This record gives sequence, C-alpha cells and structure tokens, in this order.
Amino acid sequence: MTNSSILNILNKYWGYKTFRDLQAEIINSVLEGHDTLGLMPTGGGKSVTFQVPTILCEGMSLVVTPLISLMKDQVDNLIQKGIKATYIHSGLTPAEIRKSLDKCIYGKCKFLYVSPERLSSPLFLDKLRLMPLSMIVVDEAHCISQWGYDFRPSFLNIVSIRKLFPEVPVLALTATATPDVVKDIMEKLSFKNGRVFAKSFARDNLTYVVRHSEDKMTQLVQILQKVPGSGIVYVRSRAKTKQIAEELLFRGISADYYHAGLDNEDKSDKQNKWKSGETRVIVATNAFGMGIDKPDVRIVIHTDIPNSLEEYYQEAGRAGRDGRQSYVVLIVSNKDKSTLKKRISDSFPDKDFIKSVYERVGNYLEIPLGGGYNKVYDFNFNLFCKTFKYPVIPTHNALKILTQAGYIEFMEEIETQSRVTIIAKKDELYNLPSGNPNLDKVLQALLRSYSGLFSDYVFINEALIAKRFNIPQEIIYESLLQLTKLHILHYVPRKRTPYVIYTTSREEPKYLEIPKKVYEMRKEKMKTRIMAMIRYAYSENECRETIIRSYFGEEATTMCGHCDYCLQRKNMMNHSQEDVLNGIMYMLSLKPRNLNEIMDTLSYPKQEIVDLISMLVNEGFVSFSQENRLYSLINKN
Ligand code: ADP
Ligand code: MG
Repeated sequence: MTNSSILNILNKYWGYKTFRDLQAEIINSVLEGHDTLGLMPTGGGKSVTFQVPTILCEGMSLVVTPLISLMKDQVDNLIQKGIKATYIHSGLTPAEIRKSLDKCIYGKCKFLYVSPERLSSPLFLDKLRLMPLSMIVVDEAHCISQWGYDFRPSFLNIVSIRKLFPEVPVLALTATATPDVVKDIMEKLSFKNGRVFAKSFARDNLTYVVRHSEDKMTQLVQILQKVPGSGIVYVRSRAKTKQIAEELLFRGISADYYHAGLDNEDKSDKQNKWKSGETRVIVATNAFGMGIDKPDVRIVIHTDIPNSLEEYYQEAGRAGRDGRQSYVVLIVSNKDKSTLKKRISDSFPDKDFIKSVYERVGNYLEIPLGGGYNKVYDFNFNLFCKTFKYPVIPTHNALKILTQAGYIEFMEEIETQSRVTIIAKKDELYNLPSGNPNLDKVLQALLRSYSGLFSDYVFINEALIAKRFNIPQEIIYESLLQLTKLHILHYVPRKRTPYVIYTTSREEPKYLEIPKKVYEMRKEKMKTRIMAMIRYAYSENECRETIIRSYFGEEATTMCGHCDYCLQRKNMMNHSQEDVLNGIMYMLSLKPRNLNEIMDTLSYPKQEIVDLISMLVNEGFVSFSQENRLYSLINKN
C-alpha cells in the first residue's frame, strides 16, 4: 500500500492534509498484517489509525470499545462522512441487534462497534463468524490489563475472537500504558510479531502546575480569574460538580456542571453550550471528556487528587489540543495524602467483608445455594446497601472484586434512552380500541414529534412529549406500555438499574476463593500508582513532565522547561537582588505578613529572602513584631 493512497483517504473523508506523528506508521503496520499496538496521548488521533486502513481495505473492522457513549459518537461521526458504521450494546433490543449484525454479514458495513461483554454472547459469535473481518481493533486497550487502572474482565474475551480469525491482525490503541501494562496487553491479545509505536508523552504547549492550598475554592477562583479561556474543572463526586459550579457562578465566573447521572438531553445541552463558548467553565466528573473534542481548552484544573497519573494525564491532556499554550493545574491540600491512602483500603476491603457481601447478594436476590448460574438479575445497588447498612464505596469495590474473581458479574448503570418503533400498518392505527382516548392522544403526539417510526426504533423523550402536548408523563408511559401490549408499537423504556449475573452458581461463602492475582497483586499495583501520584503532587525538586514521562516508561533526560518547577527554577537562577526586594516590598505594601508566607509566595531562594528581610529591618524600612511575628512596612513620609 502506498503512502499516497492512505493520505488520499485522510484527505477525502477528514479533510486533513497530513498525518500526525506515528499515524502513518501505525496504519502501514496493520496494512502489512502486523499485530500493532499504538500508544498515543489523548487527542493524538488514534481513531484515524484504524478508520483509514479499514476504508482502504475490503471487508470491515470489529471495534471493541468500553464506552457506549464513545461508540455512539464515533459511529455518528462516520455516518456523517458517508461511511457505513453501526454499533451494538446491551442497551439495544434483540431485534435491533440482529438487524445490525445482519447488515455486517451482508457486507453493508465497514465498522462494527461492540462493547466487550458482547463478545461472550453465543448469538453474537455465530453471526461474527460470517462477517468479512479485515481487522480487529481494541480501543482503550489498557482495559485488558489487570495491572492497569481500569481493568475490565470482559476484555479478556477478545482473544477468543482472534481464534475465529487467525489471519486477521489486531490493532490495540491506548493513551495510557506503563511498560508492564504494554507487555500485558500484548500477551493478553496473543500478539504475534507485534509492533509497538509509542508517541512521546511530552506536550510542549502544556504548563503543568501543582498548587498547595487548604482553601481550594479560593485558589480555584483565583486561577480562573488569572487564566482566560475555556476550562474544565474535574472533581470526584456528582454532588460537588453542582456545588462548585454554583459557587463559581456566584463569584462571577460563567460555569455549568456535568456528570453521568444527568439525562441525555441535559448532557448534550450542557456540552453544546460549553463547546460553543456560551459556558466558559464546566465542572465535571470523569464522565466528561471522552469523545468530546474541543481544541481550545485553555485550562484543566483538578481540585480532587486522582488515583493515578494515568487518569490525571488523560484528563489533563484535554487542554490545548490546538497546540496553543495551556495550563493544567492540580490543587492539593495536606489532607490529600491520607485521602489517597484511604482509597486503597476502600478499594480492597477485607476479604471477610467481601464474602459477607457475596452472601448477602445471594440472599437479597433469593438465589438458592447451587443456583443462579448464568442468570441475570436486576440489582438495585443503593437499596441493597441501605438494606444491609453497608458503606457504599467498599461494597461497590467488593462487588468489583467478586466480578474479577469470577463469581458474579456486576454491571453498573447501563444507561439507555427510551425507544419506540411502530409495528402496526398505517391503516391499522385508526382502529385503536375505543374506551381509552389517551392511547390515540399519545400515538398522535409520537407521530407528530418523530419521523422514521415505521421503519426502525427511534429514540424518544417522554418528558419533552409531555411538555409539548401537555400530557402527564405517567399517562404517556402507561399508554406506551398499553400500545405495546396491543402490538401497535414496541416501546423500550429507558432503564438505569445495574444488574448482576451469576457467572458461577451460588456457593457457600467459606468456599469462596479470592486469588492473589485479583486481590494482593492488584492492591500492590494500586499502591504503586498512588505513590507515583503522591510524588507528582508533593515533590518539590523535580520537573513535573519528567515525572510523568518516566512513569510511562520514557527515558526523559531533559527537563521540560515549562512546568511550574522548571519555571521557578529559572526564576531562582536568573534574578537580581532588586527582583527579590521588589517582591518583598510589594507583599508588605498590601499587609503585614509572616516570614513563611513571604517565602512560600516568592519563588526565590529562601536564604536570599531571609537575608534581605533582615537587611530591611536593620535599615529601618521594615518592622518586626515579636508578638504576632509579622513584618510590616514602616511608613516613611
Ligand atoms: P484519540 O482517540 O487519540 O484521543 P481522536 O482519534 O479522537 O484522538 O482524534 C482527536 C482529534 O484529532 C480529532 O478531532 C481528529 O479528527 C483529529 N485528527 C486526527 N488526525 C488528524 C490529522 N492527521 N490532522 C489533523 N487532525 C487530526
Ligand atoms: Mg480515542
């Protein structure tokens, strides 16, 4: 394959003139049939590396990706470009799934996106066998590694797909992988003569900054007042997103909030306003950002410390995609070290606790000993915790560990939107049973609001219909269920409950084995990640970017020259005595201060500051009060 033909595709469908670093190399490697691992920072352009060669080749790509929202985004994007693509996930009905799969078998599709759980479904595998696959793509490939920060057991199913298509190359892509994770990815995907392409984790236009503060809110406001332009503030709880956004608004900064618990309408509204610049700052959980591509984000601030540099780098990396100067700031307090350590014990609760959770889940779902095998149960997690007075976070993590130990599979909040398709013929719609006028009202409202109802499932929004046609939402819901019973239409209500699948039949807790691999070893890895995060946040004598790059296995021998440490160091070396004097005098002109405050604020060598202050005192420019240990300016008029 020549370089010009892949460039033509890039031109034709994306309108880009050149490839970015490594894109062409990765594309050529898979086109030559090599199993390939591409490591590129977020925003580096990984999608193009499988989309371009797939378009060029005959056949289609199977794309395994963990995030449903991301899947939908990418499929929509491809379709907009006139490329046939489809996706299946647990939120679709069996009929919808069958339809998508058949399209692929008949060669009517270039891309099939699936979530990894799908790969263990017999129906799926039967259909997959018949598809003209030319490539298997594993996006967010770090999820396959138990040593990564985001392990998903269902990713391990991918290797069985390889056996069905021994000749088809695998392209694995990820933004974050330490050397041991890279090795693990290639093993778990049984790479043959694999090639690895890694783009440097250095980002020249990003200034990494860590700020220590016991009053994070004030610090946050100050930073946002100083740095203009679009921003993201990451926090770790949904409640905080709202709280902080309100506080920012109150202090005159345009802000909104975002988390996974909002409904889809709300989410896209908030996203759009932020993308267009109508909202300046979005305060969000980590649910925000995947697949959102805004080039001119000038600042990303974390007010809660992340669990790993992987997460941090991924989220911070959303700043400055356009290559222009941008800031990534981590605000930490003294408490955060112990916060991080607590997260380890929360993530790995005692084994006895895990066993008791297992026992209680069985009781709660009324599963007999030896029963439950391969069955799926709706599982109201919050109610479960409330019923047994279990703490939410450790319980959640106990379920995750049980998932990894292979006893149950706990799936959280698969969120789906409501959908409707009309089954009846058009003329049959006039013969609705009389006696319930609501049915007709709701049906008319549907027909007036959405098109395409007769040929396929269409996403609907009950709240919107309710508002527009002034029908109470319960009536809409009841009527749609009724119409489904009458076989007029098929209504799939939105669903938000998590569920549990028993992957082995229920056992007595005393026989439960939680292997070292899923407990002790993973706990160790988490400790290592946390220690690296602590080093990044609290180190006072290292270049921040160097810490990140060496963590990801790069040999970083030169300092970046633009993080807060490097800038401070430059400042330390290239300053005159007058600069220091001016700094001290300016600070004291605002109010009296103690020595530590001055030394923490001015980034000059501490000894120099101490010397100059005593000189100022001796010369009678500054006075020192023994009582409150404050220095003040002596007014000399
Ligand atoms: P990743 O998956 O690595 O985070 P994406 O594949 O989502 O990144 O790409 C990020 C952005 O970069 C997208 O808007 C994409 O269209 C753009 N992009 C990709 N390749 C190029 C290129 N060669 N030239 C310019 N922009 C590109
Ligand atoms: Mg991507």
